[in-house]
Amino acid sequence: AASAPETSPAPAKKAGGPLSVLGRDVRVPLVTGGEVTYAALDYAASAPALQRVWDDVAAYAPYYGSVHRGAGHLSQLSTELFEQSRRTVAEFLGCREGDQVVFTRATTDSLNLLSAALPQGTRVFVFETEHHAALLPWRTHDVTYLDAPRSPEAAVATLEAALHGAPAGPKLVCVTGASNVTGEVWPVRELARAAHRHGARLVLDAAQLAPHRPVSLAELEADWVALSGHKLYAPFGAGVLAGRTDWLVQAEPYLAGGGASRRVARGADGGVEVEWHTTAARHEAGSPNVIGAYALAAACRALTEAGFDGLVAREEELLARLRAGLADVPEVRVLSLFGEGADQVGVVSFVVEGWNGSHFAAALSAEYGIGVRDGLFCAHPLLRTLLGREGDAPGECGAPEAAPGSPSPAGEAPALNAVR
Ligand code: PLP
Repeated sequence: AASAPETSPAPAKKAGGPLSVLGRDVRVPLVTGGEVTYAALDYAASAPALQRVWDDVAAYAPYYGSVHRGAGHLSQLSTELFEQSRRTVAEFLGCREGDQVVFTRATTDSLNLLSAALPQGTRVFVFETEHHAALLPWRTHDVTYLDAPRSPEAAVATLEAALHGAPAGPKLVCVTGASNVTGEVWPVRELARAAHRHGARLVLDAAQLAPHRPVSLAELEADWVALSGHKLYAPFGAGVLAGRTDWLVQAEPYLAGGGASRRVARGADGGVEVEWHTTAARHEAGSPNVIGAYALAAACRALTEAGFDGLVAREEELLARLRAGLADVPEVRVLSLFGEGADQVGVVSFVVEGWNGSHFAAALSAEYGIGVRDGLFCAHPLLRTLLGREGDAPGECGAPEAAPGSPSPAGEAPALNAVR
């Protein structure tokens, strides 16, 4: 039997403040001449990893080894750190006894995994206002699309009404915790309670909520939560689906392959018989992204240590400053679904009347070194509701449709819309 590895990475020293990020001092040229320190206001799309996260990863790098695949010392150590990362994430997300944490690539992947794991005949309820990652994965099931509610209370009433008339059978509600467009916070616990009253389950898209507010499955009474490391101050490539185990262990593995299978044998009929794992490994076939999981856990630790109370207070100051500044510009209209006074994280979108959004964003970048996201924010139906018309951005949220190797279009604007 293997004994526990003795060598552990040294705890990383904190560089700068507890939440300092890399890339803060990047100087960028302006079209008007000279250069300024780049102001990145697009963290809602992807936040830079914390210095602390890079440091933790660098401390681990010398101990890099295969995970769940070896008796060697470094393999054991990597396996332990991978599983420790899972426990850290479980704690960060307020997982209950028996909940599972599955490592994925990001929120989109997590929600597609859950969609693939839904029992036969599941009816899914989703507001049309969702980010496409939460709106689209369910299309292979019966989906009820709910109209945009204009208040948190209306969201609960709309869901109640839809569930009330729903046929018997498994049901899932998918809801976002905080909008990547308006920053508005949705009444997750009330929606979860409404879902449960009608025998439905709820999955929370916490891609935007988790970087700003504590997210606890137990406290929010949600059944699953999905999030992305790259929005939580960890690098790209790792995400999580955490929550109830039953539907996940009854489902076919999301990916078939090594790691997900406990036993494989040739069957009497000449085929192959597989016994799949009943742990999170069932949906994690292939060699796992151990660095990504470790970095994600490091970000969870850093945010927990920094404390959400202080983060929320600081963010509210910044938000108030931004909103006051925008209110001073008569041409600016801030987008809101729930209206004045809604609870909001530090994400703001606005229209500048008379300007094409992409041109405006390009000008902010070229003339001021300010990066903001423009476009329809991967939430086209929501933007249509908020704007009262089609948005003026072309296709977005994907690679430009150009031949491989061809240069990207000159003057293409960075895509940014948020402040943190
Ligand atoms: N959900 C929300 C609310 C988001 O803002 C995003 C990304 O912008 C996603 C889901 C998808 O996240 P990812 O692209 O990391 O899969």
